[in-house]
Amino acid sequence: MSEERLAGNFRAVAEAAGAETDVLAVVKANAYGHGAERCAVALARVGARWFGVADASEGARVRRALDAAGFADAEILVMLGLGGRADWLSTVESRLTPVVWTEAQLCCLWGWPGSLVHLEVDTGMGRQGVRPGAELDAVLDLIGAAELVLDGVMTHFCAAEVAGSEKTREQERRFEAAVAQVRAKGLRPKWVHAGSSSSVDNPARGGGSEWLVGLAKSVGARAMVRCGISLYGYCLAIEGAGAGAGSRVRAALRPVMTWKTRVLDVREVAAGETVGYNATFTAPGPMRLALLPVGYADGLRRELSSTNAKPGGWAMVRGGRAGIVGRVSMNLTMVDVTGIDGVRVGDEVVLLGDGVTADDHARIAGTISYEILCGVHAG
Ligand SMILES: *Cc1c(COP(=O)(O)O)cnc(C)c1O
Repeated sequence: MSEERLAGNFRAVAEAAGAETDVLAVVKANAYGHGAERCAVALARVGARWFGVADASEGARVRRALDAAGFADAEILVMLGLGGRADWLSTVESRLTPVVWTEAQLCCLWGWPGSLVHLEVDTGMGRQGVRPGAELDAVLDLIGAAELVLDGVMTHFCAAEVAGSEKTREQERRFEAAVAQVRAKGLRPKWVHAGSSSSVDNPARGGGSEWLVGLAKSVGARAMVRCGISLYGYCLAIEGAGAGAGSRVRAALRPVMTWKTRVLDVREVAAGETVGYNATFTAPGPMRLALLPVGYADGLRRELSSTNAKPGGWAMVRGGRAGIVGRVSMNLTMVDVTGIDGVRVGDEVVLLGDGVTADDHARIAGTISYEILCGVHAG
């Protein structure tokens, strides 16, 4: 994990988001597999003040790390909300700010007047969040009755990487209506946040934008965008009609994760010998193969396997591309080093890093960089 690259990515994202929009650093899911504590501290050092974690236990770990590093004033948002009363006690203990949206969650906070909450509005994602209208009014009344402090109002876009998305426009309109309801109740949140990495990257963005800044100002709040994947150096491709306008930060991002292993054994195989489970690969001629002590148990996707007919993924050895040969198994993988001179037992092998990215793995495995990064369990 390169703290320098993480810091550089944060700076690039903050610059693209603009001076009037803060960037909440999303470190949930153990910072997308990069280590939440280390990443949070590194990001705090370059100016991050808000951090997004999945749940209270992850929040507690991040809080301890930030406190120890001297960032006691950092704010930590628990994005999955409150599971119940016990969750709330650890939330208080670790000075976390929960995302709330249900009456049941607000009832957990009864008896804790003055507690800060961020209210999530469902404007079209259809997962968590209160819907604008009567549902929102009822929740706002409950926040008032429990004497909680509405510190933030947020929503999440479901198609932030689509340029000129009609769905995003619709979500923006619903969020505007929700913020107007908040204002009508006389509530004055400090933060209005929406949008993710894709919103900042999208040339026709809906998130960290003039729109968001204007909306935040309408209730006297500051705008914020919540970025995860871009801090780790990746971004979804911009899609849709306006995609030709390119992207706003992608070119400045550098992958933060490097995943390495070492060659466990090297063997020469003769033409006709098969390699790995189900003999899906037969050496067409003499080859030299390197055995790697890594497999799908560590997060090296099984879709990276190859057959004679279909190439798979690759690793980088001594600066050369070593294609995966046969099936990736649980703890072992073979790669072809026939064309790479001098490969020996103990040589360093790059599974993710220069020459092979999480986007390469994702393309072959039919998924997104997020899932590849979260799936790496390097020892
Ligand atoms: C994970 C998450 C984000 C960050 O998304 P990226 O695409 O990684 O930038 C932002 N907001 C919410 C609500 C999330 O769950």
